[in-house]
Amino acid sequence: MNRVYNFSAGPSMLPLEVLKRVQSKMLDYEGSGMSVMEMSHRSKYYDAINNEAESLLRELMNVPENYDIIFVQGGASMQFEAIPLNLHKNGKADYILSGNFSSKAYKEAQKFTDAVAAASSKDKDFTYVPETTPDMFRADADYVHMCYNNTIYGTRFTKIPETPAGVPLVGDVSSNILSEVMDVSKFGVLYGGAQKNVAPAGVTVVIVRKDLQDMCAPICPTMLKWKTQVDQKSLYNTPPCWSTYVAMEVFRYIKELGGVPAMQKINEEKAKILYDFLDNSKFFVNKVNPADRSLMNVPFFSPSAELDAKFIAEAAKEGLVTLKGHKLVGGMRASIYNAMPVEGVKKLVEFMAKFEKENK
Ligand SMILES: *Cc1c(COP(=O)(O)O)cnc(C)c1O
Repeated sequence: MNRVYNFSAGPSMLPLEVLKRVQSKMLDYEGSGMSVMEMSHRSKYYDAINNEAESLLRELMNVPENYDIIFVQGGASMQFEAIPLNLHKNGKADYILSGNFSSKAYKEAQKFTDAVAAASSKDKDFTYVPETTPDMFRADADYVHMCYNNTIYGTRFTKIPETPAGVPLVGDVSSNILSEVMDVSKFGVLYGGAQKNVAPAGVTVVIVRKDLQDMCAPICPTMLKWKTQVDQKSLYNTPPCWSTYVAMEVFRYIKELGGVPAMQKINEEKAKILYDFLDNSKFFVNKVNPADRSLMNVPFFSPSAELDAKFIAEAAKEGLVTLKGHKLVGGMRASIYNAMPVEGVKKLVEFMAKFEKENK
């Protein structure tokens, strides 16, 4: 077996320990005589998985009682459409554009509501997070939308935006869920696809405050309506059982590690190793505003596109894979999600130092 350090932005690494646990239960899940991939979502086995996944996530993220947690399909991208349909009273929504995914969410919302860009960091290629004050948002907006961690550009919010009184904040946490402590009570809705920090692709987590569930537009399709899945405990139709099951194993694993605060500490350590190296390098650069740097996604560049390509090819030979930057940004990007061990980041930095010496 020859496992690599996979720096993919998503789908990404899963903790080796979780993969082993899942493997050991693959053929006969807890005496059921079948794998979770094969069983009915109405079985007692899956019911236990569904319940435990919900309660562990609630515990890990400290989700207050007045919020529901649902596991749905369609990825974060489908929530871009679900949000303006579910949160629909005055037909107005304000967006903070801090990168690619918030821009996509904004574009979708324009089909269903009067969506406006209240703030944007596009002027500097999304290399920073725009600052906002409550007066920048409409007081009668149905919600304000933000993307907590900007996967492609490598920035994140370190201060949660304040909205006008009574206007709920909606946060896309696809690429930083469970990576740092979050105050769920500051949000009306949090959502994220699983494939970066939680599980294989397939399941999407939506955390939604109970009092916001009666704002749904009548035209909202049943499958997009959060209340549909809330009322059916995420079992309205066939759920992505396998993905939710692996999520449950990941939640157990994070709890054993000491929960999200322990995970955050490890993530801060990893990010520091990489940013410290970049700050001291005369060869590699990270172009993001230092105060807004992501703990999860670190874009960086060598002096030329040719050297970038050489770096990516040579790194792969060392077992450091999927380091190519997103096509919108170029260069390299190291995604160092929860499952990336500290050793992986150390090995990357050692390789970067060697490459710098040989190529400068
Ligand atoms: C990956 C990602 C998405 C898209 O997720 P899908 O599950 O593929 O729809 C949306 N937002 C953020 C912040 C992401 O990182």
